[in-house]
Amino acid sequence: MSVIQADQTCEQCHGTGVFLSNVKDHLRSRICDCYRCEICGNSGKIFHEDDKGRSFMAECECQILRRRAHLLTESGLPGKYIRATLETYQPMNNSQKVALSRANDFLADFGKRRADFLGSLVFMGNPGTGKTHLCVGIVKHLVMKFGIPCKFVDFFQLLSDIRQGYSEEKAEKTILEPFIESRVLVIDELGKGKKGEWALDMLDQLISGRYNAGNKVTLCTTNYKNALPKRKKTKTEGFVNTTDVEYLKSYEKETLSDVVGERIYSRLSENSQFLELEGEDYRKIMKGRTSSR
Ligand code: ADP
Repeated sequence: MSVIQADQTCEQCHGTGVFLSNVKDHLRSRICDCYRCEICGNSGKIFHEDDKGRSFMAECECQILRRRAHLLTESGLPGKYIRATLETYQPMNNSQKVALSRANDFLADFGKRRADFLGSLVFMGNPGTGKTHLCVGIVKHLVMKFGIPCKFVDFFQLLSDIRQGYSEEKAEKTILEPFIESRVLVIDELGKGKKGEWALDMLDQLISGRYNAGNKVTLCTTNYKNALPKRKKTKTEGFVNTTDVEYLKSYEKETLSDVVGERIYSRLSENSQFLELEGEDYRKIMKGRTSSR
């Protein structure tokens, strides 16, 4: 959109015209105060004239940007990811380079074949390797560049929203439908927390519903991997075998298939690329760098 006139030195939007903020842990997006549309002067309306000289009021192009900014707020991204985009992701090793490159390919493919694009990504790996950052970067791009509505939910929150719906005796359809219908759904922290039979049944209905609808894109992040690590590096002992090691984290004791069940795992596998991100927690790496300066 060539009409965007934002102040390139603006500290709020950095010249993008869209101001992002963290309001009660939710990412809010709005047109920045520095933004001026040179066509409509920010009124959002312009006069057009048809071939017969009759004038009529129409929507200005800049309204697209306003709508997309609103859509981004509606997507439910967590507030702390204001800066997260694919451009701000700095891969720390080869597995992260591959994940970033797949995320970029995903967006390029989506851009080419919007309506019939089908493909999903599952980002796996230890906490702090940037799985959520990459998903947020993808959502921001899909919303702001393509105007695609997206929904971002934390797995734990998703189950509690569904449970709440049931306790209010809402019809099953109205509870699950918004999650099944969303063209793009991000499930963050898939498999985290206690999962009874009920929770897995809900997840099964959700994943199967999206799978059967045929045109849905599901992005997941999870600490669980496809296989258990055979050896683990410790600070003091070097490498140790991981069978029966007490201090393993819960996500190192089970695979994704173990926690979500064969059926859901196999549905996910059918049209998803699994991307395993290795490495340390980025926050710890950065903390170490600043404290050693
Ligand atoms: P995960 O979802 O894998 O647990 P996050 O995406 O939440 O990790 O990352 C934790 C924090 O570190 C976030 O603020 C994120 O923006 C940042 N971060 C993680 N990895 C990177 C990276 N490679 N480059 C830039 N920022 C990163």
